Amino acid sequence: MDNNALAQLLFPDVTASPDDMEKRFPPRQLPEGANVTRIGPSPTGFVHLGNLYNALIGERIAHQSGGVFYLRIEDTDSKREVEGAVDTVINAMNYFGVHFDEGAVSDGDNGAYGPYRQRQRKDIYHVFAKHLVERELAYPCFMTAEEIDEIREQQTANKENPGIYGKYAKCRDLTIEQIKENIDAGKEWVLRFRGTETDEYISVVDAVRGKLEMPRNNMDFVLLKSDGIPTYHFAHVVDDHLMRSTHVIRGEEWISSLPMHVELFNVLGWKQPIYCHTATLMKIDEETGGKRKLSKRKDPELALSYYQQEGISPDAIWEFLLTLLNSNFEEWRIANPDADINEFPYSLSKMSISGALVDLDKLRSISKDVIGRMPAEKIYSEWLGWCEKYNADFADLIRRYPERTIAALNVGRNAAKPRKDLETWKQACDFMSFYYDETFKISDDMPAEVDDATRKEFFAEYLSSYDHSDDSSVWFDKVKAITDKLGFAVKPKDYKKNPDQFKGSIVHITNMLRIALTGHANAPDIHEVSHVLGEDIVRARLEKFV
Ligand code: GLU
Repeated sequence: MDNNALAQLLFPDVTASPDDMEKRFPPRQLPEGANVTRIGPSPTGFVHLGNLYNALIGERIAHQSGGVFYLRIEDTDSKREVEGAVDTVINAMNYFGVHFDEGAVSDGDNGAYGPYRQRQRKDIYHVFAKHLVERELAYPCFMTAEEIDEIREQQTANKENPGIYGKYAKCRDLTIEQIKENIDAGKEWVLRFRGTETDEYISVVDAVRGKLEMPRNNMDFVLLKSDGIPTYHFAHVVDDHLMRSTHVIRGEEWISSLPMHVELFNVLGWKQPIYCHTATLMKIDEETGGKRKLSKRKDPELALSYYQQEGISPDAIWEFLLTLLNSNFEEWRIANPDADINEFPYSLSKMSISGALVDLDKLRSISKDVIGRMPAEKIYSEWLGWCEKYNADFADLIRRYPERTIAALNVGRNAAKPRKDLETWKQACDFMSFYYDETFKISDDMPAEVDDATRKEFFAEYLSSYDHSDDSSVWFDKVKAITDKLGFAVKPKDYKKNPDQFKGSIVHITNMLRIALTGHANAPDIHEVSHVLGEDIVRARLEKFV
């Protein structure tokens, strides 16, 4: 067979050579040790937590080393493509503070190694496809889907490995005349790699998992589909070589195709990137109590949009993902409570390889700590940003009262054990609603220990002796005096010891006051809250009970 003639027949328009491609995409000029990483999401419109998880690793590995982190859109499967999906990915990553140095942008490309959308790189793949045909390492295959199905059935019945290889690779040895005839007859073809029958093993050192040993590829796998678009396997190898990725960070579901990738890197004479196969995201199943993979259908928390809609702060997500990703992160955080997260020395070798457990309760608790450490001004601006998108009325409200809001965000933060009331921006709209008359409402029931007459008497006394300039201890002495006068125990333990001697205790009185002022029995310090609200609002809210 004249391989050059076949290559010319299959790829008449390709004039460039692999060398031309090497020149067009030269090795990057980066300092020694700088890493180049990427994410390669498919533009399906669904950005999942796994995308962010891998992005965060790539971002750290690149930026920690002074390297480059880029976005490549893997759109080889046009059936799954959704319009606007590139923007969705970029916006979601942006929201979570993951920024790309280069790659696909909304309306094109940013960088010298593009195009960064795979379908626009068809010409580039074809250069290498032609080159492989010339070297007798690839051939056109005309098998129909029915023929392939039949083979699969036969293989299943014979308990053989599934796939096109050896005797099943029916188009391997077609003559150039037969190929021409098929093409002239309008038959569709795919380009297959010519696999080697072998019992050798390959060994790859994965940066996360250590040494992986697996049988060398013997499959005639597909390089180009019938529309000339590459498969993931071919595109991955060509792109990560030409874009000069040093590390390929991707989910562990790709481990089984590693032999194909290794084969391609070898025959093309290219250096393999460092592979990092990350653990699948898991959760505890509510019904069975066992671990299982997160599912797109059952688990809203798999979608990145869930965290945006809930208003989880990007800082909390990073902190949460780093906890999942590096076993020593939590320890580091305890030792460096105020350090910027980017100071944490992220390391691939500290990654867990058993499934990463996504525990939303843990996320919420991390989020409370993270918001607890944030300056009130930062909370205000992040929260406002979220409200503008998801709760316009609340955005108006906190924009109308910026000073009150900042003061409210500072309530309880200077105590020995600072309050951590806020978990998410969505929950903040609920929790903070009592600071504004526009959203204030009484949610909890008044304590039953205080009858109607006593309640009225309490509020009348409270208001007549109320002096907004009292400091917290003078204020509390007044509350105690009224409590005592109304027949309630000033010390809760006195009431506990002799419940018959009192109508109730100071706890009931202050709960009543707190509910009148905030709507909730569980709310921050009354004196502090009163000073955030201001005298007019305090009096107006309490007068309703007189
Ligand atoms: N498009 C692939 C995916 O979404 C990317 C895998 C990779 O990063 O190589 O799983």
